[in-house]
Amino acid sequence: MEIIPFECGPLATNCYLVIDNQTVGAGSESAPTIVIDAPPDAVSHLLPVIKKRNLKIEKIILTHTHWDHTLDTAELKRYTNAPVYVHKNDEYRLLKPNETSIFKLPFEIEAVVPDIYLEDGMKINCGLLEFQVLHTPGHTEGGICLVNFENNVAFTGDTIFCRSVGRTDFPGGSTDTLLSSIKNKILTLPDDMMVYSGHGEPTTIGDEKKFNPFLDEIIDFDSVVSVLSNDS
Ligand SMILES: [Zn+2]
Ligand SMILES: [Zn+2]
Repeated sequence: MEIIPFECGPLATNCYLVIDNQTVGAGSESAPTIVIDAPPDAVSHLLPVIKKRNLKIEKIILTHTHWDHTLDTAELKRYTNAPVYVHKNDEYRLLKPNETSIFKLPFEIEAVVPDIYLEDGMKINCGLLEFQVLHTPGHTEGGICLVNFENNVAFTGDTIFCRSVGRTDFPGGSTDTLLSSIKNKILTLPDDMMVYSGHGEPTTIGDEKKFNPFLDEIIDFDSVVSVLSNDS
């Protein structure tokens, strides 16, 4: 597996090419690849690499549908012919991007009809790579993370960042829901798993457990519960 990160657009949103580099040479000339998120300017960043490396974009997977992660989706789909994957609960922002935008944006966003709905526990293949979908609502209703256990990596969108978590004050956000998604779906992943998020630098699950100040509440709560239950 090869991961190529791109930082795109005015909000420095991360977009990833995730390449199955084992399939090339084993009978195929182009490497099966997925794109994770399609932020503003993603197409101008990705296309030269896609052409140069002769990558076959098989899927465009959206971690959630805030415009800073989706603005280039329609254009990227036209260039690659790849189906767009999104969780059903986040679909409405893709269908009506301008009406659902929180701020009045100085540009129009092109609507996209998704092809396939992502669901919790669903397996997604790209060549020899397999990803598991985790539904992690809280930042948005239909936010998802994508985990590849074989290579020990997770793509977490705006659910969790290096030393931070996704904001929950936008429509559809909920702090309780976000913290419970992080506690039950993300912190249960292996400590040495790499985390690639929607903004900022990569990190690991273990480092976030130790150093992420926004998780003190849920982690302390756990240790209090275990102390209490040990006493009884
Ligand atoms: Zn977001
Ligand atoms: Zn974002």
